[in-house]
Amino acid sequence: MLVSAKEMLTKAKAGHYAVGQFNINNLEWTKAILLTAQEMNSPVILGVSEGAGKYMCGYKTIVGMVNGMLENLKITVPVALHLDHGSYEGALACIEAGFSSVMFDGSHYPIEENIAKTTELVNLTTEKGISLEAEVGAIGGEEDGVVGAGECADPEECKQIADLGVTMLAAGIGNIHGKYPANWAGLSFETLAAVQEKTGAMPLVLHGGTGIPADQIKKAIDLGVSKINVNTECQLAFADATRKYIEAGKDLEGKGFDPRKLLAPGVEAIKATVREKIELFGSANKA
Ligand SMILES: [Zn+2]
Repeated sequence: MLVSAKEMLTKAKAGHYAVGQFNINNLEWTKAILLTAQEMNSPVILGVSEGAGKYMCGYKTIVGMVNGMLENLKITVPVALHLDHGSYEGALACIEAGFSSVMFDGSHYPIEENIAKTTELVNLTTEKGISLEAEVGAIGGEEDGVVGAGECADPEECKQIADLGVTMLAAGIGNIHGKYPANWAGLSFETLAAVQEKTGAMPLVLHGGTGIPADQIKKAIDLGVSKINVNTECQLAFADATRKYIEAGKDLEGKGFDPRKLLAPGVEAIKATVREKIELFGSANKA
């Protein structure tokens, strides 16, 4: 059964480790992540962006697929199904469809409007036992033309949003979605420390986990990060393994064209990536 992310993140914050959010794109992704979390006895969060939601034929299709896997793969570790960077309407749709966690990204609104919309969702999710992630200070990305440092959140605004009663808070600390540019300035630990001081026990979320060096990840966890989002890294690993299979001509040998064979190296590559992240984040055997 899907669970809210609240308990797993409260434990992570107290235990000084982080739970990984791995974004899913299809059945292979979901299966690879769930099996690896189970194998490592780790709690896990499956992330779904609105775009991935459309691609997978809607939130209800995803809820059905994930619930079916939890049962048929005998998954016993805590699993949250979470909307990533949701709009207000998207969050409502996911709550309706059976997600156990949602993110409302109001970081592009003026702070007053972010507070107003987040407050409404705090009331709704609390009533339903669903966890809610809010965001302050937009997180940069290549698609936004941001090169170099990502944005840094205002710690005072972080406190305002945290005090509304959200479950977890994403704050921009110089992190970026996608691949990091060569001239990236690194995470702003000053910002993170200031946010942590203002928000206390609130689990903090680090977006854009792909390509942040391991020592910076560890330092971020020490400073209060309890959830780390990984998306691009699984995509790169999947694409690379699939490319190698095809470039080696394996799809032309025997029944190598069978999708169950063709996609298998990609699935193994996702598993290896997830395994490596769970070890780095310290959530193995914390289920
Ligand atoms: Zn993000």
